[in-house]
Amino acid sequence: MAAQVVVLNATLEPIGVASLQRAVAFLVKERAQIMLAADGMIRSNSIELPVPRVVVFNDYVRIPHTRLYDKMPWSRRGVLDRDRRRCAYCEAPGATIDHIHPASRGGESSWLNTITACVACNGAKGDRTPGEAGMPLRFEPRVVWRREVMMLAVEATGVDLAELGVLPRP
Ligand SMILES: [Zn+2]
Repeated sequence: MAAQVVVLNATLEPIGVASLQRAVAFLVKERAQIMLAADGMIRSNSIELPVPRVVVFNDYVRIPHTRLYDKMPWSRRGVLDRDRRRCAYCEAPGATIDHIHPASRGGESSWLNTITACVACNGAKGDRTPGEAGMPLRFEPRVVWRREVMMLAVEATGVDLAELGVLPRP
């Protein structure tokens, strides 16, 4: 079962995803309402509810600023997700991390010094900078904030918020 439910604040701002169990708890406690339901019903002795896909809090929930606007800690997985697993040098699918300023020459593992690369480009670049290797970046590295990771989780649920009128269409 697609167990992740999109959670919107009372302002309709997306604030995260919750397990189905947790989303149902919000509904049962009347903290939230269903904005979009999947087919089928959840039935137990005490409840009968449509299966929620998107729930909206009835009251505005204060989100700690850091939960959305902190910098994510750097991780390899985070870099691959940020770059959507595309090689920065040739745009083919990539699954390795390249240090733009090479790690062997003091380049650090940070959001702005790492980028996704395919095995071939990573090998071809070796211990050189993109300039030295004559391999320009086709896109730039950037810092990843918590909000972006949350929005990727929302996207992964398959719910189209734009279709619900929640987010402006691009
Ligand atoms: Zn490549």
